[in-house]
Amino acid sequence: MRPPVLNPLFAAVSALPGIGPRFEKLFARLLDRDDGPPRLIDLLFHLPTGFVDRRNQPKLSAVKPDTVVTVAVTIEKHRPPPPNRPRAPYNIEASDETNTLTITYFNARKDYLQKLLPVGSQRYVSGIASFYDGHLQMVHPDRVVDAAGFAKLPLLDPVYPMTEGLHPNLLRKAIDLALERLPALPEWQDETWRARNDYPSFAEALRALHRPSAPSDIAPESAPWSRLAYDELLASQLALALLRKHMRTRAGRGSAAEGRLRARIISALPYALTPSQQRAVVDIVADLARPQRMLRLLHGDVGSGKTVVALIAAAHVIEAGRQAAVMAPTEILARQHFATIAPLAAKAGIRPAILTGRERGRAREDILAALAAGDIDLIVGTHALFQENVAFRDLALAIIDEQHRFGVHQRLALTRKGQAVDLLVLTATPIPRTLVLTFFGDMDISELREKPAGRQKVDTRAVPLDRLNEVIDGVARALDEGRRVYWVCPLVEESATVDLAAAEARYKALQKRFGKSVELVHGRMRGPDKDRAMERFGKGETRLLVATTVIEVGVDVPEASIMVIEHAERFGLAQLHQLRGRIGRGAAKSTCILLYRGPLGPTATARLKILRETDDGFRIAEEDLKLRGEGDVLGTRQSGMPGLRIARIDLHGKLLTAARDDATLILSRDPKLKSPRGEALLNLLYVFGRDEAIGLVRAG
Ligand code: ADP
Ligand code: MG
Repeated sequence: MRPPVLNPLFAAVSALPGIGPRFEKLFARLLDRDDGPPRLIDLLFHLPTGFVDRRNQPKLSAVKPDTVVTVAVTIEKHRPPPPNRPRAPYNIEASDETNTLTITYFNARKDYLQKLLPVGSQRYVSGIASFYDGHLQMVHPDRVVDAAGFAKLPLLDPVYPMTEGLHPNLLRKAIDLALERLPALPEWQDETWRARNDYPSFAEALRALHRPSAPSDIAPESAPWSRLAYDELLASQLALALLRKHMRTRAGRGSAAEGRLRARIISALPYALTPSQQRAVVDIVADLARPQRMLRLLHGDVGSGKTVVALIAAAHVIEAGRQAAVMAPTEILARQHFATIAPLAAKAGIRPAILTGRERGRAREDILAALAAGDIDLIVGTHALFQENVAFRDLALAIIDEQHRFGVHQRLALTRKGQAVDLLVLTATPIPRTLVLTFFGDMDISELREKPAGRQKVDTRAVPLDRLNEVIDGVARALDEGRRVYWVCPLVEESATVDLAAAEARYKALQKRFGKSVELVHGRMRGPDKDRAMERFGKGETRLLVATTVIEVGVDVPEASIMVIEHAERFGLAQLHQLRGRIGRGAAKSTCILLYRGPLGPTATARLKILRETDDGFRIAEEDLKLRGEGDVLGTRQSGMPGLRIARIDLHGKLLTAARDDATLILSRDPKLKSPRGEALLNLLYVFGRDEAIGLVRAG
C-alpha cells in the first residue's frame, strides 16, 4: 500500500484544475507514459533542457536587436489586417518614453488580442525583438503579462522538451500546479552524504530545477539535478538488490534435457555459431540444468546474434516439457523476433506463438487458452505478456530483450508468471564494461564479443549535403543492381512537425525519381501500417525505405546493404552506430553514407570520424561518453540509460557506484526497511516507480 502522503504525486495530470482530460493523450506522449494516465510525479520529473533569460529589461531605445528582451510598454493602437487581406499580419503599436514597438501576430484572433493587449493598458512583453523596415518589431512575443503577471514572471524561464500540439504555457501551468502540491517528505538520503554534497531536499531540488534562480541550477551537474539523479540511482540499486536477493534465495528448479532440440535448431541454422555464442549457450544450459535460479545477462552489440542464443536457451526448457517466453520492448521487435524464431522452431518441433496488444478478440482468447494448456511452448510478445489474464502451464524461462528500455519491473512481472522462473536478459546497452554489473545489478554475464562470421565492415563515408545529387545517383545505381537501401531522416520529438515534413518531402522527391519501389515509415504511423511497410521492404517488394528513426532498434533485413543517414550531424554517436548496425548483415558489401549539413562543429566532426574508423560498439560507447555534453544531439534522451529519467551515465557515473554501495549497506543493516530511514526509502521506491521491489522486502 502506497503511503497516503504520496497521493498528491500520483494524482492524474488531467485532474488538475484547468487541464482536463482533453489533454491527457498529449501529456501521456510528452511524459512517455504508456501504462496508465500521466501523473504529477511524471510532470515533476520532466526536467527543463534549458532556459530563456528574461533578465534583460531595457528601454526600447536600448534594445539590442535579435536578442530576447522583456519590455514595459503602453499599448497605443491595434491595426488588424484589412478585410480584403485577412492573411496580412495583425499589428499592434506600443511605446515607452524612448521609442515605439510594433507587436505582430499572424493568423491571430482579433477578440483574443484585444483582451490580451487592450489599448491604453500597460503590458510587459517578452520575446525576440528585431528591426523591420527601420522599426522595432516583436513577432509573436512568447510572454505577455500585466503588472501582476510580471511580478510572477520567472526571470529564468525554463524550456522543456515539448510534444506537438501541447502549448508550452499549458505545460508550465501544469508544472506550477504540481509544484504547489508537492508534499514535504522525510529525507531518505543519508544525512552525512547529503551534507557533504550540499544537496537540497527532494522538494527543494524539484523547485530549483523548475524555477531556477541561477542558470547553473539547470545544468545536470548542479546540486539539485545531481540530488535527484542520486535518488533515482539509489532507488534502482535498491530494487535490483532486493530482486537479486529474492531470486537467489528462492530455490530454482532444474530443467533436465539432453539437448535434442538444441541440436536440431543448431543443425537448421544456415551458419555456425560464433565461439562466444557457443560459450554463452554452454553457460546458459548449465544454469538451466541447475536447481538454482538463473539470473544472467547476455550482453552484445547490435547484430551480435543474441536472438538465436535466446532460442537455444528456450529449446532447453521446452525439451524438459516446460515453457519459455521472450519479451521485446516494441511491437516491431516482437514481430521480428517471432519471424526469426518461428521457422527455426518449426524445424525443431517447437510450437511458437506471438502475443502483443494487437492480438485481439477470438485470436487472443485462443492463444491464452493454448498457453495455459501448455499447447504453446514458446511465446514471443511485448509487455502484453505480463498482463493479469496471461497464464502459463509451466513457465520455466523468461527472456527479456531490454534493448534500451526495461527495468526490474518487467523482469519481475514476467518471472512471477511461473514457479522459480529462470531469467535471461538480453541487452545491447552500450555501456563501458566497468559499469555493466553496477548498472544491471549483480548478474552472471555472457558477452558476445565477436560479430558473426561473414559480417563485413560497413564502408562508411561522410558526404556534405551539397552533393546530394551524387548520392541519389549512387542510390539509383544500387537499385538497378537490385540492392535494398535505407534512407534515414532525423525526427526529434521537440521539432517533430518540421522533421516529419522534411522526411515526407524527401520521400516525395525520391518517389518522383524511383516510383513505386520507395516507401515511407515513421513513428506516427499506425502499428499495422508500419509492420506492413517493413514487411514489404523485407520481402523486397519495395527497395528504398525512407524512415525516421523507428528502424533503429533491432530491425533485421540482411539484404539491405546501403544506408543514407540524412543530417548525420544531428545524431548522437551511439545512435548512428545503432542505425548503421542495420546494414552489413548479409553477403553484399555494404555502404553507409553520412549525409551532413556543414559546417560541422568539432564534436560532430569527431563523431563522424570515429564512426568511419571503427564499428566496435564498446569503443564507440566510450568515445560517446567523452564527446557527450555538447550540443543538443538527437536521441540524447533515448540514449540515456534504460529505465532512468533523470540520471545520465556520462555525468552521474560516480553517483551510480555510490548508490550501489549505499543500497548494499542499507539492506545489510535494515533488510526489511523498518527503521525510520527504511520507511523513508519506501517512499523513494514509490516515487521512482520501483515499488514492485517492496513486496519482496516485506515477503522476506
Ligand atoms: P542482435 O539481437 O544481437 O542484435 P540478432 O540476433 O538480431 O542480433 O542477429 C543479427 C543477424 O545475425 C540475424 O540475421 C541472425 O540470423 C544473424 N546471425 C546470428 N548469429 C550468426 C552467426 N553465428 N553467423 C552468421 N549470422 C548470424
Ligand atoms: Mg536482437
